[in-house]
Amino acid sequence: MKKYVLFLVILFPSFQIFGGSTLPVPVNLQKAYENGTRSMDGRPGPAYWQNHSDYKIEVRFEPATRTIDGHEKIVYYNESPDSLDRLVIRLYQDIFKKGNARDWAASPEDLHDGVKIRLLKIDGQEIVVDENPDVRRYGTNMRIRLQRKIAPKSSALLEVDWQLTISKKSNIRMGTYDSTSFHIAYWYPQIAVYDDLEGWDTFNYTGGQEFYNDFCNYDVKITVPKNFVVWATGRLQNVDEVLQKKFVKRYKKALSADEVIHVITEEDLQQGHITADNVWNTFIYKAQHVPDFAFSTSDHYLWDLTSAKVAENRERVLIGAAYKKESEDFYEVAEVAKKAILFFSNEMPAYPFPYPSLTVFNGSGGMEFPMMVNDGSARERSGMVHVTSHEIAHTYFPFMMGTNERKYAWMDEGWATMLPFEFQAREAKGYDPIRRTITRYLRIAGSEYDVPMIYPATIYGGQGRFSYRNASYNRPGIAYYLLEEYLGRERFLKAMHEYIERWKGKHPMPFDFFFTFNDVLKEDLSWFFKPWFFEFGYPDLALQKVDEDEDNLLLKVVKKGKLPVPVKLIILYQDSSKAYLERSMAVWKTHLKEIEISVKKEKPVLEIWLGDEHVPDLFEKDNKLKIEE
Ligand SMILES: [Zn+2]
Repeated sequence: MKKYVLFLVILFPSFQIFGGSTLPVPVNLQKAYENGTRSMDGRPGPAYWQNHSDYKIEVRFEPATRTIDGHEKIVYYNESPDSLDRLVIRLYQDIFKKGNARDWAASPEDLHDGVKIRLLKIDGQEIVVDENPDVRRYGTNMRIRLQRKIAPKSSALLEVDWQLTISKKSNIRMGTYDSTSFHIAYWYPQIAVYDDLEGWDTFNYTGGQEFYNDFCNYDVKITVPKNFVVWATGRLQNVDEVLQKKFVKRYKKALSADEVIHVITEEDLQQGHITADNVWNTFIYKAQHVPDFAFSTSDHYLWDLTSAKVAENRERVLIGAAYKKESEDFYEVAEVAKKAILFFSNEMPAYPFPYPSLTVFNGSGGMEFPMMVNDGSARERSGMVHVTSHEIAHTYFPFMMGTNERKYAWMDEGWATMLPFEFQAREAKGYDPIRRTITRYLRIAGSEYDVPMIYPATIYGGQGRFSYRNASYNRPGIAYYLLEEYLGRERFLKAMHEYIERWKGKHPMPFDFFFTFNDVLKEDLSWFFKPWFFEFGYPDLALQKVDEDEDNLLLKVVKKGKLPVPVKLIILYQDSSKAYLERSMAVWKTHLKEIEISVKKEKPVLEIWLGDEHVPDLFEKDNKLKIEE
């Protein structure tokens, strides 16, 4: 193995190319460069690998008891150069196991003794789960020490039968929304990620942090009682078998419709007779190369469908909303979801929506899954537009770009905050998502809770929700927004598209993002990345008058805070007219502390203001200059 690594180092001396960057790569990540799994120019390295699985799942869900009975066969492919002596299986619903840690309180009714593993076989050999020293359950993980190692470039076959009861009152990202409506996620025994950076991901799921999954293929058969409809990750494979003809016709119409088709209406629900005439129906869904699988089911939800063409060479994306009739905002969700998908495909990040379908299910909160979104109803229309577009943006990060959201939530939540800014402002009149994000950020900016993004969220998540929200959503959302403003749309998209092309379907880590942007733009952006992503600090500019004569005003803008922001001046004249003057954030690249700006006094000046509502500035009281009384 050592020889192989040395050989790569000699063959690919590209490591040296990005010596220019001054970003400090932590020692635990440096080995990725030494091993050649990642390159210093931001590309996956010549020795890059990732593991993956094929899941074949059969599940029966009984709404009356909220019981899941599942059977799965997993083929796990070990693409790593290592012989694996153990497997780590995630049993997320052990979050409700009595005595386990949770970031949120759970209703005592929802606590249980853990996911029941009724059968576990590895390569045909049965493994006893209880009281076996080779099988250890801790937190939400189950670690199995293997009798026979899984060799590099080989696979293992797992078979698991399991049973669990879905929570009734404690809806942590999933659960029960009324007695016959459910969103089922984090629900099947899933092989944890084994990667080139950390080996096994043994992070204990406590509710706060979300995804880090392999890209897998899913073939899932979901059996539910008559008149329950199932919406899930992937495309429905057997619509003719599970729905009455009338609904099949509408479903098929939606596949080529620009308008919203009401597949199941209120009248339909009153008449009943929605699904096939069986006591139980089995909905079959398949999805390729996705990081997770979730489904929703209800016997009394309205269902809207439409579709959109996102790229020339692609089948239309099927877009839907499933909701209860009382949710007034949801009547518009399918249409807004379609507009959002077209916005992401054509404008920002201007990359075709990568999945064949998307369903927004009306549960609670706002939570994304591949091709599924679980959203509560919003009181304001802007809330609906915000949450719908935010959750759909997650399709890009972390689903298409398989970032480790557990450690680096800013690599997806930050983008899901920033990418839809323009869409949200356009679609919800009077709503300013940029100002909203800045306001939230400034509430914590510069405090000891304002933890720089580069700190792994795994060490301050949980009880540190305050820090987590800031470092995952608001501060990175604003940082990305400022980066785009500095680079301009064209250069930003050029770097973004290259980042996507290099890393889609893979597991980029922070330096893959930083180094790719540096590499594509031929500019060391460390002057921006370092303060915004690595350091404690806050944005604060101040305005001062240096000199004044008949014709000119000489001003000084002082950078008091550590974080660079653009300089925007508004000159207010005595006749109430205004003029605007701007300097790019790049002025702080070389002028580290202050810059001088000369303003021509074309007419009598009353005041000069520094900054505007889209420039974060923690202390605004030194941003105003009175010139004439
Ligand atoms: Zn999010």
